[in-house]
Amino acid sequence: MRPNILDELKLLWQAMLSLCFSHICVNCKCELELHETHLCARCKDSLTLLPDSCCERCAHPLPLTSNDIISCPNCSGRHFYHKRTTCLYILDETLKNLFHQIKYYRKHWLLDLFRMDINTHTQRLLQNIKVDCIVPIPLSRMRMLQRGFNQAHIIATSVGKALGKPVITNILNRKTGRVQANLKRNQRLTKQRGTFMIRRAHLIRGKHLLIVDDIYTTGSTVNECARILKKHGARAVNVFTLARTI
Ligand SMILES: [Zn+2]
Ligand SMILES: [Zn+2]
Repeated sequence: MRPNILDELKLLWQAMLSLCFSHICVNCKCELELHETHLCARCKDSLTLLPDSCCERCAHPLPLTSNDIISCPNCSGRHFYHKRTTCLYILDETLKNLFHQIKYYRKHWLLDLFRMDINTHTQRLLQNIKVDCIVPIPLSRMRMLQRGFNQAHIIATSVGKALGKPVITNILNRKTGRVQANLKRNQRLTKQRGTFMIRRAHLIRGKHLLIVDDIYTTGSTVNECARILKKHGARAVNVFTLARTI
């Protein structure tokens, strides 16, 4: 459904307010210092990176430090089409608030807040992963019309720059489906089949791909995406998301 005129006016009003009050932290509403942009230092410092010891498959933090962990109780018994999952931040209340504003109030410029951390950490986090090209999880056509941008594509562009790898966006279509946020875990896991369709399989044949998305929740979306990419000839698929629920 396309946004109606009241929604458009509301967004316009919020955009004007944010221009007038751009010296206010978008999270805690405190007054920003001159050198701060969008987020105060306290809120920015509260963003927490995932620890080094995480499950390789689902990036869930584990108490162990062994490098050869390949599964965890959180994901054992599930079949994964991707090899590894790497996430940057733990999804805390600050990030939830920021993503809410990015997605539902179309504040795509807030994604700039993560560019420096992506640049600083992704090379190290992905140093053992071969990447030929980067594939952002697409939005459905309807969601793209509503939102006007794909946050996964913007994140993927930052990751591509950090790794020096190309981002390809014209190989997948996504069907319009139910809103993921409204689904429970088990529903998410079973509702994903057939979500994605390949448009140009020749672009991925034999390639090592890195799927990029904003938030890893159950992993069902990236797993289904990895399934379809491998089915159409991708040699290997790994996953990077900006944040992860724990
Ligand atoms: Zn703040
Ligand atoms: Zn796991």
